[in-house]
Amino acid sequence: MKVVKFGGTSVASGQQIKKVFDIVTSDPKRKIVVVSAPGKRFKEDVKVTDLLIKCGEEYLNNGSVKETYEAVVNRYVEIAKELGLSNDIIDRISADLQEILHGDKSNPARFMDAVKASGEDNNAKLITAYFQSRGVEAHYVNPKEAGLIVSDEPGNAQVLPEAYENLKKLRDRSGILIFPGFFGYSKDGKLVTFSRGGSDITGSILANGVGAEIYENFTDVDAVYSVNPNFVENPKEIRELTYKEMRELSYAGFAVFHDEALIPAFRAGIPVNIKNTNNPSAPGTKIVHERTDSNGPVVGIASDTGFCSIYVNKYLMNREIGFGRRLLQILEDFGLSYEHTPSGIDDISVILRQDQFDSETERKVVERIKKELEVDNIEVAYDLAVIMIVGEGMRKNVGTMARAATALAKSGVNLEMINQGSSEVSMMFGVKGTDEKKAVQALYEEFFGTT
Ligand code: ASP
Repeated sequence: MKVVKFGGTSVASGQQIKKVFDIVTSDPKRKIVVVSAPGKRFKEDVKVTDLLIKCGEEYLNNGSVKETYEAVVNRYVEIAKELGLSNDIIDRISADLQEILHGDKSNPARFMDAVKASGEDNNAKLITAYFQSRGVEAHYVNPKEAGLIVSDEPGNAQVLPEAYENLKKLRDRSGILIFPGFFGYSKDGKLVTFSRGGSDITGSILANGVGAEIYENFTDVDAVYSVNPNFVENPKEIRELTYKEMRELSYAGFAVFHDEALIPAFRAGIPVNIKNTNNPSAPGTKIVHERTDSNGPVVGIASDTGFCSIYVNKYLMNREIGFGRRLLQILEDFGLSYEHTPSGIDDISVILRQDQFDSETERKVVERIKKELEVDNIEVAYDLAVIMIVGEGMRKNVGTMARAATALAKSGVNLEMINQGSSEVSMMFGVKGTDEKKAVQALYEEFFGTT
């Protein structure tokens, strides 16, 4: 049995949903189908989830919502029309949305979760109706009824272990099961969504639960690329990746697959195949335990901007037991999460995502570090980019760091910091945000270039 997930662009219009139908029915093993809310049909389009967030916020603020509400319903109306479905399904969708919007608002985060989740929920109902209209046995499955139990953290749910046992029972059901992505239910029956892009997570949980032979994740690209295609023209496609490599890449800016979605499939040893709805015969990218093709030490280059660093220097820091812990404790006290901590003998830098670090927090953090740790020097730098080169092959290859550093030096990029990941499958380089593109291009040329 295969679990198949279709992302937002794959279910954004009637025409796309027809492709979904063809893909699912072309293989009798494709029994469990997870769907996103309708996504973008063209570059400037707005995803239904974003429209719903706007709609929910307007409702909370008692503003006028007519326009946004209609924009949501119209997306479904257009899809239903293209698919030749009757008005019944639209009546059901609008009634559902009205009920949610007029529901309990005493807990705004919970209210917003219900509004957001309706995007996938109603799309799953609509897609089921379409499959049935084509004479196929298809059933909409609600995550509550199926027992997809999650932690009660609105907007950031985590699956609970008992969910897997419950979901196993889906194996015994007949027909094609259409399951909305992106949300589950807490133990006491409250709807809770995963983080944004979370339909990938639903698919992975289901694949684990039913013990699927593969988890096929359909999106709108032929493969995971070795580098951001906005930086390098026609980058190399990656055929095979290990879970660990994918995890490192998706953490640092590879948006193709949600970084939390790997774990459930990984734990059950289920391969993930990223494929293209618009070109289903392309092999896509497979994420597996162990890679068979190993060409070169680096499989991909990822990068992301919006980081800041707190650099601290103190003579004889190396002899001061507990220095690092006390430094990180100060950050913890401010609820700050850190990403990397490259260190030297008398120096340590802590890299953070800067959106959590406003000037007031910076002032207080710097003050405490100066006072409590009696440092010689402290500097905060903003607008850094983090670039990761990733590949299991690095473990065995000598000189990867030297090649990368030389390539960056030759292109005139100043390295702010280097961190050889303890995982041994990645190396991290910190550069000025304005140098991101140049640095990525230089590294791509070094590890994948033809010249
Ligand atoms: N529709 C949700 C989002 O846009 C979840 C998903 O598509 O995976 O975040």
